[in-house]
Amino acid sequence: MYTRIKTSKEIEAMRSSGKILAQVLGTVERASAVGVSTKYLADLAASELKTLGGKPPFLGYGDVHNAFPDVICISVNDAVVHGIPSSYELRSGDIVSIDFGVNYDGMITDAARTFCVDGTSNELKKLIKDTERSMYAGIDALKNGVRVGDVSSAIQKVLVAGGYGIVRDLVGHGVGHELHEEPDIPNYGFAGRGDVLKAGMTIAIEPMATMGGHGVYVDDDGWTIKTTDGSLAAHFENTVLITDKGYEILTV
Ligand code: MG
Repeated sequence: MYTRIKTSKEIEAMRSSGKILAQVLGTVERASAVGVSTKYLADLAASELKTLGGKPPFLGYGDVHNAFPDVICISVNDAVVHGIPSSYELRSGDIVSIDFGVNYDGMITDAARTFCVDGTSNELKKLIKDTERSMYAGIDALKNGVRVGDVSSAIQKVLVAGGYGIVRDLVGHGVGHELHEEPDIPNYGFAGRGDVLKAGMTIAIEPMATMGGHGVYVDDDGWTIKTTDGSLAAHFENTVLITDKGYEILTV
């Protein structure tokens, strides 16, 4: 479905949904340490989400024959997105991306953060910072009447300047009634082109950048997206409401 212009009641539910989401992501990030398994972190997210009254839209998402089996995606090192929580225990220097969704009162928000476990190289710190900056460049372009290409090109500009690979096979999207709604919001494109976004629409902006090329493949588990060249990757995402004059970030 194409993302709808939300009613004030729906927006209120998405504000609550986004606040819960940001809180859980913060908990997971703070608990991430050497020796902690990604499944432990997922269970922590599930239990806090339950306490806060939200439901997990990621759990059971996708094809019935290979539905996503957990509430959160945890993608380590060359895994870009959609990593399945497991018995893997985090190591010093790992780069970790956590991507979470919340359904509150029927309305869904989606957000992701990337961080390092126990310190890392300046090069990787820069990748993480620049990927986050590219997300905010895309968000800053938002206002009533903006075209998708204006958002895409703002993100691309930051990542190209940093010399990173921009993952093309996965893109931002509308969000709200469903986890993934139209239109796609690619992380590359031409200003002035594409669909017009309007005040009241809610979209997820989510750049994914690598230290190498843009190529990715799906791992044997049918979910985890990894870089073809084995390079390390970062991912940031926020759900944002477009307003008459600009935007409101819902997942902070
Ligand atoms: Mg998303």
